[in-house]
Amino acid sequence: MSALIVCPSCDLAHCIGAAPSKERTVCARCGGLLQRAENGNIDAAIALAVSALVLFAFSNAYPLVAIQSNGSGRATTLLGAALGLYRQGHTLLASLVFFTTIAAPFLQITSLLYLLLPLRRRREAPGQRIVFRLLTRIRPWIFVEVFMLGALVALVRLAAFARVVPGVALWSCALLMFTLTALTSRTSPGQFWRWVEDRRA
Ligand SMILES: [Zn+2]
Repeated sequence: MSALIVCPSCDLAHCIGAAPSKERTVCARCGGLLQRAENGNIDAAIALAVSALVLFAFSNAYPLVAIQSNGSGRATTLLGAALGLYRQGHTLLASLVFFTTIAAPFLQITSLLYLLLPLRRRREAPGQRIVFRLLTRIRPWIFVEVFMLGALVALVRLAAFARVVPGVALWSCALLMFTLTALTSRTSPGQFWRWVEDRRA
C-alpha cells in the first residue's frame, strides 16, 4: 500500500513507502518538515503518563496558594478556584477553568494509559480507534500553561496586599505543564499508529 503525505507548507504531495519512514523527512520542494523521527520508546511514554498522573493528583489534592492577610489565612485548591468563580456568578469562566485545567488533562492522561498499557503487551484496548480520536479532539483544550501564567500574574499583584504562600499544587502544576508537553510530543498520531503497526507485525 502506497500512502501520500502532503507538505503542510506548500501542499506538495509526496509518495511514501508502505510504512512511513522512521527518519525525519522534509519536503522535496520547500524543505518543510514532513515527518518527525517517530521511533520513540513506548515505555518512556508510559513513564511520562504515570508521572503526569501523579503530578495531576498532587495538583488537585493540595492547596494552590495560601493567602495571609491581617492575621487570617485562606488556602484554595484548583477545584476550589473553579468553584469560587462559579459562586461569584462566572459560570462560563468556571466551566472553562474546570474543563481546560482539570477535566481535559485528566482525560488525556487516563486515555493514553488506557491505550498504551495494553499496546505494550501487544494487545489493543477495546475501542482503541474511538478513544484515540477523542484524545486528539481533547488535546487542543488543555490550557494548564495559560492557567499557570494567569495564576502567576494574579499572585504577583496580590503580593502587594497580602502574604502569598505558593502551595504544593502550584509547583506540581508547573511540573505537570512540562510533563504534558513532553507527553503530547511523544505520543503524536504518527507515533501512536506506528506503535500499533509495530505490535501487529
Ligand atoms: Zn513543501
